[in-house]
Amino acid sequence: MAVLWQETGRREWACLVLESVAVPITQPVGEPAVASTLVPFGAARPARWILLAGDHDRITVNGLPVLQGARVLTDRDEIRTATHRFFFSSESLARSANHLGEPTPCPRCKLLIETSQAAVICPTCGVAHHQTDELPCWDYAPRCAAGCSQSTELEGGFRWTPEDE
Ligand SMILES: [Zn+2]
Ligand SMILES: [Zn+2]
Repeated sequence: MAVLWQETGRREWACLVLESVAVPITQPVGEPAVASTLVPFGAARPARWILLAGDHDRITVNGLPVLQGARVLTDRDEIRTATHRFFFSSESLARSANHLGEPTPCPRCKLLIETSQAAVICPTCGVAHHQTDELPCWDYAPRCAAGCSQSTELEGGFRWTPEDE
């Protein structure tokens, strides 16, 4: 997961959560033109994102043209098209959801997370943790119990927004 912030007005930003599917960020001009698109790639978690420049978009990243039509994005890259301004953020927020699939051990309490029990999947390493009233394993400590550096803040908002620039 990552986030694309789009400027919608003066000091107004909309945020789109990027979930492992490609997202066009411009409209193609005429057929068969191609839109500029953000595409996830690689098997690592979290996924990395690449910007594919469209046929007619004079798109820049951090003020520089996109050479060879593609650029790997890094945290807080500024993307500009002729009409729009965006920021890419690699930040992830954890969300609570019912556990799908087979029971799996929780890295905090070592008990099994049963199917349909409330749980949080770490957005960085992908390991599930309990998040019930009796077993608040995810936000029991400030960091993910599976040993990655993900903050366990839930719905606490993003630590960085373009307004911080
Ligand atoms: Zn647990
Ligand atoms: Zn983790």
